[in-house]
Amino acid sequence: MELDTRIVLAETAAERSQQEINENVSYNLHKVLTAFRNHKISELHLQSSTGYGYNDVGRDGLEAVYREIFCGEEALVRHQVVSGTHAITLAYFGNLFPGDELLSVGTPYDTLLKVIGSEKKEMGTLRELGIAYREVPLAENGSIDLTTVLDAISPKTKMVSLQRSKGYQWRPSLTIDEIAVVTKGIKSRWPHVIVFVDNCYGEFVEKKEPLEVGADLIAGSLIKNPGGGIAPCGGYIVGKKELVERAAMRLTAPGIGGEIGPSLGNNRLFYQGLFHAPHVVGEALWGAVFTASLCAGLGLEVMPQEDGIRTDIIQAIKMGNRERVLAFCQGIQRYSPIDSHVTPIAWDMPGYEDQVIMAAGAFVQGSSIELSADGPVREPYIVYMQGGTSRQHVKLAVTETIREMIMNGLL
Ligand SMILES: *Cc1c(COP(=O)(O)O)cnc(C)c1O
Repeated sequence: MELDTRIVLAETAAERSQQEINENVSYNLHKVLTAFRNHKISELHLQSSTGYGYNDVGRDGLEAVYREIFCGEEALVRHQVVSGTHAITLAYFGNLFPGDELLSVGTPYDTLLKVIGSEKKEMGTLRELGIAYREVPLAENGSIDLTTVLDAISPKTKMVSLQRSKGYQWRPSLTIDEIAVVTKGIKSRWPHVIVFVDNCYGEFVEKKEPLEVGADLIAGSLIKNPGGGIAPCGGYIVGKKELVERAAMRLTAPGIGGEIGPSLGNNRLFYQGLFHAPHVVGEALWGAVFTASLCAGLGLEVMPQEDGIRTDIIQAIKMGNRERVLAFCQGIQRYSPIDSHVTPIAWDMPGYEDQVIMAAGAFVQGSSIELSADGPVREPYIVYMQGGTSRQHVKLAVTETIREMIMNGLL
């Protein structure tokens, strides 16, 4: 079949998912607008503060809005949180004490392995602090086996950590329904165990978020979904009041917590990004379905399938060899608005074990709600594509990348 025919088929597949995507965008936009209205967000909130940032009504209003949207008792939403990894780290270090155990369901995201540390108790890690760590493996098909998780929990287990998105793993992402079942199971047997969910890439993909189905604490990055492609940096933590407050004490200092922290001109960008976030997530999802269909048509294994259930914006494509991974990422970079002339290469990125290649020709450095494709360069050579603030951009970049790969004999 000609590539042009495949492109038409992929577009048809994306259009088939359109109704569900639209409905979801509208639902989540309604949720966001309701929170803005309930908290009377006004021009005043778009101003900002400097120095200590006392009486920063914009910052406080934003946290109130996040609290409502994600259904938590408390929220911490700050540009001082430098990344998703930092947000999750605050949740861990704020709430785990020497002698406690952190139990992760499945292997956590690559950068978190560095936060946890190994038996060598590297500097600054959870392990150095005397916090024990264990992992319960996911089932063969990537789902959670509740009995295995419940059996793995011991009286020492203070927190169970779930990761909604697949990260750099070839597995289905955890849906809100699955998170609900696991959380309910844990809470019925171990009510005091904290259920933490790494919510990166999951925000606004479904109608519910993890706290609504019983989780205690979530964290994520503002240069992913909830920043809407507009937030220039930052992270968030939402959940039970005490747990968020404890995380805030680690961000700043005990006695200070979330009380201070200047917003330095970011308030408008955070509000505006949050307002756009449901729409942008919809664009990214359309692009992901298009890409799944096109790549599957060319014989590549994809996860999820074009008509698969989605709970995050990631589209994984099994490329099968190093050359294709590099070519795909380089192609996406070439069709990016920024740095289109540079060639991304695999490098030893801080926080990762394997070499990683990242195509991110984004307005905000490293922003992966903007169209981006990346992956650790290791067997079985999977590319993870996500984001795209407009579906036309995703379609254009992916089609031209694939066209070039075919021309160069890589597909
Ligand atoms: C992106 C991501 C992180 C880490 O976020 P950074 O901002 O890259 O530090 C953690 N977990 C998951 C599942 C992610 O997708």
